[in-house]
Amino acid sequence: MQIIDGKGTAATIRAELKAQVAAITALGTRAPGLAVILVGEDPASQVYVRNKVRACAEVGIHSLHYELPASISQQELLDLLAALNSRDDVDGILLQMPLPKGLDGNACLAAIDPAKDVDGFHPINVGRLSQGLPCFVSCTPAGVIELLRRYNLSPAGKKAVVVGRSNIVGKPLAMLLARNDAFGNATVTVCHSATPDLAAECREADFLFLAMGKPEFITADYVKKGAVVIDVGINRTEEGLRGDADFDAVCQKVAAITPVPGGVGPMTIAMLMKNTVQSWQTRLPKA
Ligand code: NDP
Repeated sequence: MQIIDGKGTAATIRAELKAQVAAITALGTRAPGLAVILVGEDPASQVYVRNKVRACAEVGIHSLHYELPASISQQELLDLLAALNSRDDVDGILLQMPLPKGLDGNACLAAIDPAKDVDGFHPINVGRLSQGLPCFVSCTPAGVIELLRRYNLSPAGKKAVVVGRSNIVGKPLAMLLARNDAFGNATVTVCHSATPDLAAECREADFLFLAMGKPEFITADYVKKGAVVIDVGINRTEEGLRGDADFDAVCQKVAAITPVPGGVGPMTIAMLMKNTVQSWQTRLPKA
């Protein structure tokens, strides 16, 4: 049984990006720039933003960090996004979700220039993903595919089951797994709370992806012997962070599994860094 080390893989990706950025900035070009916007004082969002700003520093990305009061108006936020859209030194714009009550998150995401939408949430990027066109892919599903790629665990020709259909994880992950790609080409089933027999669906999976937000819900009974289990769930419990899988029981049965913490979680920020560096390389003036 193989434990898929997302923490180590994310560190490797950050080191690769750092080397890439250093090699290009050594020629005299500006560093990549990522604007990170936090509205309000949600403690979990504050931690995420702090981790994103720290990762930027490690990779050599210049981060512009905006901490705005929850009382900011929709128009003020839209004005800031418009200003960042037009700045040449900003390659990516990240608006930390969820926004406080009274602000329209979807309208704000749609106001970000799709070419700077490094979180991959703009409707243009979501639409391009569904059409199999080049686009920014949202960071958690992109991180899942990157982990499969780096561990050479291809779902091609296999049966994949995704539990969860959210816009930020389940749905884009299902689209990536179904696309015509060496680390796609799976036959994908998407499950949700209206799925009649979740255990039976999951037991069919050669690759089982969990994005439910239900601590240790998936027991060994849900898992086919020799399956690959990718656990996206991050659930705070009194015993600490737990995934959607009952790790100790499930790992007895599987070929490979991601732990929580240290699995998919760290990959999300690594993919944000990757998307930002990619945007920067595309936007740099060509010699
Ligand atoms: P959502 O709450 O938006 O979606 C949960 C999905 O799971 C829904 O589609 C829901 O179905 C489905 N679901 C819930 N309970 C059941 C059940 N008993 N049987 C079948 N389906 C069920 O969560 P997110 O997608 O935002 O996040 C999922 C998990 O991933 C969370 O633990 C979150 O913390 C974690 N996460 C981790 C990230 C990372 O690694 N960096 C990033 C984002 C999320 P329905 O649609 O019918 O309600």
